[in-house]
Amino acid sequence: MEAKLKELKTLLIEIDDLKSAASLLHWDQATYMPSGGGSARSRQLATLERLAHEKFIDPAFGKILEDLRSYEESLPYDSDDASLLRVTRRKYEKAVKVPAAFMAQLYRHTASSYEVWTKARPANDFALVEPILEKTLDLSRQLADFFPGYKNIADPLIDYSDYGMKASTVLELFDKLREQLIPMVQRITSQSLADDSCLHKTFSEEKQKAFGLEVIQCFGFDFKRGRQDKTHHPFMTKFSLGDVRITTRYKENDLSEGLFSTMHESGHALYELGIPMDFEGLPLADGTSAGVHESQSRLWENLVGRSRSFWNFFYPKLQKTFSDQLGSVSLDTFYRAINKVERSLIRTDADEVTYNLHVMLRFNFELDLLEGRLPVRDLAEAWRERYKTDIGIAPPDDRDGILQDVHWFAGTIGGSFQGYTLGNILSVQFFESALNAHPEIPKEVEKGEFGTLHSWLKENIYQYGSKFTASELVERATGGPLSIDPYIRYLKKKYGELYKL
Ligand code: ZN
Repeated sequence: MEAKLKELKTLLIEIDDLKSAASLLHWDQATYMPSGGGSARSRQLATLERLAHEKFIDPAFGKILEDLRSYEESLPYDSDDASLLRVTRRKYEKAVKVPAAFMAQLYRHTASSYEVWTKARPANDFALVEPILEKTLDLSRQLADFFPGYKNIADPLIDYSDYGMKASTVLELFDKLREQLIPMVQRITSQSLADDSCLHKTFSEEKQKAFGLEVIQCFGFDFKRGRQDKTHHPFMTKFSLGDVRITTRYKENDLSEGLFSTMHESGHALYELGIPMDFEGLPLADGTSAGVHESQSRLWENLVGRSRSFWNFFYPKLQKTFSDQLGSVSLDTFYRAINKVERSLIRTDADEVTYNLHVMLRFNFELDLLEGRLPVRDLAEAWRERYKTDIGIAPPDDRDGILQDVHWFAGTIGGSFQGYTLGNILSVQFFESALNAHPEIPKEVEKGEFGTLHSWLKENIYQYGSKFTASELVERATGGPLSIDPYIRYLKKKYGELYKL
């Protein structure tokens, strides 16, 4: 059995090598690659992904997994080996349903659509991406159809990012959340808005970068095992457990853009950096789901980074960095500015109260597109309409409308967005559990110390990688299933202090 297990791990690591090489090519495409590299890069990515997929679905690989079945059954459920075999089998059984040639076609298409999106967005040119989106929709449907027997066509796609979740569960959860959020948004936006002009002076990019890096170093980001670069749409990626990259973008006239996206992506990175080295190259060496991953980024970005405790410590430092711009701005004004609630156009910049409304309408669009209720040609117009009815503001152009998010131009339609709201909900649930175990955390944050919080996250979340499913992990870490209650409680308390609720 030991020899078989070794053989399995060797194959898995080879597959991971191919995937990591693809991730590196993708990172390069999104950061430094000159635009001339675009078409060859799409092909290169597709080749690597196809090779990795072929290797994984090879019947010889399946045979080894089968031979190890009785060994797996003899082990405790939560042992590393049993978890490795369980998670690998789950992924294998899914992967064998999809032919390698299809995966190659999908990857080639998504890599080239990303290239077109980077041109279409600044040019505000939806027509340029329309035929591409048609094809993405077609490929997304084809992918789902490799898993017949689904209740909703989005289910197999959601399963890739948030294993165990179904469209119906997500819709039900979103309905409950919407019921709470809509009146909250109405009450807040009927009051006079916070003044956030202090964030919109001119802030040099270089200083923004230095400040952001200092903050995430305090969080525990290890620069010997990671780095930060600039991109169009911030993301985190990993080439190995010793090399986790984050990306960001800065706006000289908006201090929050670079600062909070840096904290956000560092939260994703801390998760990956906290996975044990023993899992290197194996399917256990990833965050367990999109929702849990997002809970980690939102926890550092919002529950820490937008809290008063955090700024009690960091605001004097920020004032020193930007003395001309913030020297005469009080901490209270700054705190209100970074937590200003408003009806806005851009999801990634949205405040904590309205954020989920942006996600919900995207999720609904995914279902409408997949189920054929909404043709792609009507999408840009439908987007403007939905923003008007749901958020109360319509984008003046497609650049800040349908073209704002990279997801549908770099992956499938379906399964791309629910993780953001699941992550918001879970971020508070995890944070509450950490506070119950260590009520001293806010006092430490106030001193710029994050060790206790970071250790709790490592111990209860990071160290398991993908060993447990999202629902198993939530149960273990918080003692109960996913619930919106802590999240609503948190919003009511925090925004009840800032606004009349
Ligand atoms: Zn994120």
